[in-house]
Amino acid sequence: MKPLLHDLPTPALLVDLDRLERNVAAMAERADRLGVALRPHVKTHKCVEIGRMQVAAGATGITVSTLYEAEVFATAGFDDITWAFPVIPSRVAQARRLAERIRLGLVVDSPEAVASLAAERFPFEVWIKVDCGYHRCGVDPTTDAAGDLARRIEAAGMRFAGLLSHSGNAYDHDTDQERAAIAEEERARITSVADGLRAESIETRGVSVGSTPAMTAARDLAGVTEARPGNYAYFDLTQESLGACSLDDIALSVLTTVVSSSTEHAVVDAGALAMSKDGGPSAGRAMGRLIEIAGAPVGSAAPELVGLSQEHGKLDRSLAVGTLVRVLPNHSCLTAACFDHCYAVRGDRVEGRWRVWNGR
Ligand code: PLP
Repeated sequence: MKPLLHDLPTPALLVDLDRLERNVAAMAERADRLGVALRPHVKTHKCVEIGRMQVAAGATGITVSTLYEAEVFATAGFDDITWAFPVIPSRVAQARRLAERIRLGLVVDSPEAVASLAAERFPFEVWIKVDCGYHRCGVDPTTDAAGDLARRIEAAGMRFAGLLSHSGNAYDHDTDQERAAIAEEERARITSVADGLRAESIETRGVSVGSTPAMTAARDLAGVTEARPGNYAYFDLTQESLGACSLDDIALSVLTTVVSSSTEHAVVDAGALAMSKDGGPSAGRAMGRLIEIAGAPVGSAAPELVGLSQEHGKLDRSLAVGTLVRVLPNHSCLTAACFDHCYAVRGDRVEGRWRVWNGR
């Protein structure tokens, strides 16, 4: 007999398998329709089992945020991985050991990073990050910085893999039309840099873009070769507030127990180290959204999760001690990263317990 939800020790991270499978299939189909390969960012779930589902649905490789994730997934058999984070000089030797085993893409946006790779004297595969409007990392697309880095990569005997960007600025827009415009701005900027490099006879194979809010709205990705959304596997309240998904698409939730109650409020065993402290769409007024109390669905009149300390979560209403409460997260990537395991559930049946590979 498979265990039931109410048998689980709390706090427990729950993955709704029906929704996950739907989300994975829908994005694979979307990438296919847009004519780009899909390289999902697995930092959202850090689960080998989910990465395998994404590959089975057509993903050509995966994206990771840490070398630790890259190593774990490589050990599990994934052999085409992009570490989509600016190269960390103190980890270049570790990256080389992995690049000797699998196809590992690395990302740079500075001559210093290229030099740290070149010093290893290994034919690394190197992507150049371009800032297409998010203004976090990446070279300025209106300058020749990408050309300069590409020439340095090639001169050092490494392989220039292509251009890569991340449209995190799509998170600032909450209509489909605006998010589509961000996706188009990203596409236009990165493909124009690629065209400029090709005009200088610099072979530019890959053109990699993406974020979940841009990818769920993009209408045309001409000139782009691959997309790297991550959050879409689970979605969350932030994506729902942007219109990138509906509440019924959110595959991740936290099961928590009321452990103390007064006439005014109740306390559950899901604090900041279960939910994360991402304030989400309500800028911190609600640290998640209750969707079930004692196994029964609740609507918008449900108590709110109004405060989090390390292990305590505070609800704005009294509830009997022992009551099980299920909460949707503001930001699923950070919530998932609070846990070492998740439970794969279908309805109220627990079908599996998967490792969440946290680590550095
Ligand atoms: N690529 C890079 C470099 C990222 O940093 C991220 C997320 O932070 C992604 C892709 C995936 O974006 P999202 O989680 O919005 O799908």
